[in-house]
Amino acid sequence: MAKKQFKAESKRLLDLMINSIYTHKEIFLRELISNASDATDKSYYRSLVDENITFNKDDFYIRIDIDNENRILKITDRGIGMTKEELENNIGIIAKSGSLEFKNANEAKDGIDIIGQFGVGFYSAFMVSDMVTVISKAFGSDQAYKWKSKGSDGYTIEPCEKEETGTDIILKIKENTEDEKYDAFLEEYHIKSLVKKYSDFIKYPIKMQMKKSRLKEGSENEYEDYYEDEILNSMVPIWRKNKNELKQEDYERFYMDKHFGFEKPLKAIHTSADGVISYNMILYIPAKAPFDFYTKEFEKGLELYSNGVMIMEKCGDLLPDYFSFVQGLVDSPDFSLNISRELLQHDRQLKFIAKKVKEKIKSELLLMLKNDRDKYETFYKSFGKQLKFGVYSEWGINKEVLQDLLLFHSSAEKKLVSLEEYVSRMKEEQKYIYYAAGDSIERIEKLPQAEMIADKGYEILYFTDEVDEFAIKVLTKYQDKEFKSVSSGDVGVETDEKESEKKTEENKAIFDFMKEVLDGKVKEVRASKRLKSHPVCLASEGELSIEMEKVLNMMPDSQNAKADKILEINTDHEMFGAIDQAFKEDKEKVKMYTNLLYNQALLIEGLPIEDPVQFANDMCKLMK
Ligand code: ADP
Repeated sequence: MAKKQFKAESKRLLDLMINSIYTHKEIFLRELISNASDATDKSYYRSLVDENITFNKDDFYIRIDIDNENRILKITDRGIGMTKEELENNIGIIAKSGSLEFKNANEAKDGIDIIGQFGVGFYSAFMVSDMVTVISKAFGSDQAYKWKSKGSDGYTIEPCEKEETGTDIILKIKENTEDEKYDAFLEEYHIKSLVKKYSDFIKYPIKMQMKKSRLKEGSENEYEDYYEDEILNSMVPIWRKNKNELKQEDYERFYMDKHFGFEKPLKAIHTSADGVISYNMILYIPAKAPFDFYTKEFEKGLELYSNGVMIMEKCGDLLPDYFSFVQGLVDSPDFSLNISRELLQHDRQLKFIAKKVKEKIKSELLLMLKNDRDKYETFYKSFGKQLKFGVYSEWGINKEVLQDLLLFHSSAEKKLVSLEEYVSRMKEEQKYIYYAAGDSIERIEKLPQAEMIADKGYEILYFTDEVDEFAIKVLTKYQDKEFKSVSSGDVGVETDEKESEKKTEENKAIFDFMKEVLDGKVKEVRASKRLKSHPVCLASEGELSIEMEKVLNMMPDSQNAKADKILEINTDHEMFGAIDQAFKEDKEKVKMYTNLLYNQALLIEGLPIEDPVQFANDMCKLMK
């Protein structure tokens, strides 16, 4: 029989696995049991919604068998099974979504990350096995198939006999080595303890024959061995347990077990309600965004259960987009088992629960912000952008929910601050919440436009994400205080504005000439309202700022957005004396100065200059 090769990425991952970068080899059992449980969920659900299927609750179990002599560990389920195609597609390849850049993952220093990102899954079996055999018969199919592989050199697949629907995973356990006692995975008590440790909350019975001892019949001191099936797990799903019985580790384990994320979650939220609509839910705030979080491939959603039966793996309607990073599940007896995806969208219960989910996440995040700032900032670094997109999207209908969760870097505090903190510190005469937008904190720090505002002792929020300014435009106000860019047409410091208007008037002839030289590139040239020591800067008037223009023009279908730019000149700067002089004597020189100043202002803004060669030549002319 021809051997099929694993897809390239799978092969490399297998090599990594087998070469055991992952230190806890024992987790293979958790992975296989959780696959078995998922598969059983699927068939259990089918049996409940399809009248043609005769249903026997006792059929749903997971079985572990140990054959010590042949070094075999077998995990059997009565789940949905896999067809030949599914065997090839589901366990013959890894990274089905294709969005994963294996190369990047491979460059990660820590091996755990690599595997975590894939979901350890089925492949972990190779950490402890010389050979893995999968015998599976899919639900509704007559033919079973046997899939077999010794690891990275490929696999074979052939038809075989199997009576019942479901899957057997048969592991040929490796021989002991100096570093690793694989024998342990053939010991009943060790396996039992692993099931307790990792899979106690699996809701189907995990059965294993355990060797036991009893008094021989008729004897008073002679014992005999016998074997008996034992259920190893407690079977109460974790979300049905009382919160007081559960430890942080239990939630973390469940999170890992479910592959909700590859690092410990920042927070587990466990709540339940009994009322008109009852529900249990466990929600997790992850620490890091998954690799595909900010891509189209990412699918949000919570697992949806009806009375302990999973009816949907990813129910997107339970989560608003701005909280799409949340993982977890909701169980409610009020959902009908055979509700379709379409009907579910309009379901009253679902809407009610979705509202509760939203409120709970918000209140928990606010609590975290208040009581555990470091944790919140970790969260914010991963998902703050998503919150800001949330403010911006749908014309701001969610801004009330989100505004208190926002943080921005502060010029005064040199760290992230909330809007509430900003407003509470505002000076009495300060009218606006000031912000400055740019590529990085370092760059904004040097912005000439910010100089005077900072000088007045006003705090400035630094906007370094592309979405920031767009989000703030939608927000417009926080606690009745308007937002104002330090680069906007009027900065809201009246005394200085009057002064600058006077200077603009005085130098009108020069400014008009300069504007003409710039030939439509700026709307106005005027005396600056905000510069102190710097000679020149750009400001903008109207809805679109210069930063927004930059962002919009980076978009693939950009419509060549244009901000109304104003060239502001510091008339107190000594270079202005030179312009003033030249204006009287040499208009050509003024032209050159104007272009130079304009280009400098562009550079400061991080905008490209139109003719760098001309700019360089003009600079040289000055040096002569
Ligand atoms: P994951 O479970 O994270 O998707 P795995 O590598 O563990 O990744 O499994 C890949 C896929 O193989 C599963 O999504 C499932 O479709 C299928 N699979 C694995 N084990 C079983 C099983 N015991 N019964 C049915 N399908 C299974």
